[in-house]
Amino acid sequence: MEKYYQNLSCPDCKNSLVFLKGSFSCPACKKGYRLEEGIPVFLNDEQWEKWQKEDIVYNPYLQGGHFLSSTDFYAKYGRSWQKVADIGGGDGVNSAELAEEGKDVYVLNPGFLALQKLQKRGIPGLHPICCEGENIPFADEFFDGVLNIFVIEHLSDPFPILKEIRRVLKKEGEAVIGTDNRFYDKYGKIIKTSLLHAFNKNIPIHSPNKTHINLMMPKDLRSILKKANFEITKEEILRPQYLDPVWGSIPKGLREEFMSGMFIFTCKPIK
Ligand SMILES: [Zn+2]
Repeated sequence: MEKYYQNLSCPDCKNSLVFLKGSFSCPACKKGYRLEEGIPVFLNDEQWEKWQKEDIVYNPYLQGGHFLSSTDFYAKYGRSWQKVADIGGGDGVNSAELAEEGKDVYVLNPGFLALQKLQKRGIPGLHPICCEGENIPFADEFFDGVLNIFVIEHLSDPFPILKEIRRVLKKEGEAVIGTDNRFYDKYGKIIKTSLLHAFNKNIPIHSPNKTHINLMMPKDLRSILKKANFEITKEEILRPQYLDPVWGSIPKGLREEFMSGMFIFTCKPIK
């Protein structure tokens, strides 16, 4: 049995789970949860069915059956954390680095294929859990930090997942939420690739990602984080480097809505 199983709680009643003879049970509400290839699973049959079909769609890195090598781009956010949740973390591409640095990293993802890929990384501190982000199998205030990178644009309503992230975060904890900018994702990428295509026919024109059903602008994320009881401590609006010299002189609304590619907000629970 893996040591991290001891830290799991019932996603329904939040009581500590007991692991016995290859499965989990909740002593309080009597619900049971299974283990599949060493990975705890918290999906019902209907959710399992749905997610195994959509796994490839929700994990573009897995197309072709390989994963991206771990990137340290997001690891910088977690340097002061010990217990980390990477929610919707796929094969661990954004958090594997933190596990290699000795942190306890729990990668929560509903698609199972991605988690099998994660296991192949063979990193002891990288713990796969198959569940939806709206129903996290951990007690309140368990985590020092949460990464939620390129997830909310796939959700029809991001409020339930943000509320759940707020619940499992310590009072002094931090959440890092990253998402694509609506204008750039819907139109910017097409404009850019069409221009490039005009010069080089080998460059394909971008086709929009159909699973991006909730693309936001920075102001939308500000408002929903406030509703979920978070205070934003840092905003990063990512843009092309050539805009750096003029960025400050462009009106804020204009540059945020039409000139940024994605944005990453760091926030903490409001007490
Ligand atoms: Zn229970």
